[in-house]
Amino acid sequence: MSYTYKRTEPGLWTVGDYDPAGRWQPESDHDSPQDAAQRVAWLNGSGEPPVPPAGLLLTPRDRRTLLAALTDAAAYRAERAAGLCDACEVADAGACDEHADDADQAESYRALTARIGGAS
Ligand SMILES: [Zn+2]
Repeated sequence: MSYTYKRTEPGLWTVGDYDPAGRWQPESDHDSPQDAAQRVAWLNGSGEPPVPPAGLLLTPRDRRTLLAALTDAAAYRAERAAGLCDACEVADAGACDEHADDADQAESYRALTARIGGAS
């Protein structure tokens, strides 16, 4: 089988191939048909080697610094979230919007920590 790509959503091109039963097997998603075509060429044995994704590239030191910052930020937000206020006492959800936001932020910091390979 050889790889191909198709537009699967507005602004999203998915590279994949068809299994022997004819079912589409997605391999990767791309923001442009050009990126998808490059990936297809590479997977099919021609074309240039893949360029690192145009996302955030971190050196090992950057990554350690970011993980430390996220750990500090999550601890700070978690501590704030634990400090309930008068509005929390009467809130149906058990926490006021502000303290609920602290808890949400702590959770999103922990999730990002896990995504970039730190302990969550
Ligand atoms: Zn509160």
